[in-house]
Amino acid sequence: MLTIRCAKCGRKLFRYLKIGKGELHICIKSRIEKDFTVRDGKFVKCPRCGSVVGVDIGVYIKMKKGRFVSSGTKVNK
Ligand SMILES: [Zn+2]
Repeated sequence: MLTIRCAKCGRKLFRYLKIGKGELHICIKSRIEKDFTVRDGKFVKCPRCGSVVGVDIGVYIKMKKGRFVSSGTKVNK
């Protein structure tokens, strides 16, 4: 499980089940265990500082590079 945080203020954004070794570019909604973000239309924002961290595309959230940091473990398949 990965913990994804805001790069600006460090607030927790998601707990996310990442499958595969690659870099995180998108968050598939069905794999988000906990969602702490707020929405402004299709924009996904940090609940503390309001930084836009991604864009809601429907079944997934396209994450903005450099706006978030992640830590934890990925599931290798
Ligand atoms: Zn923030």
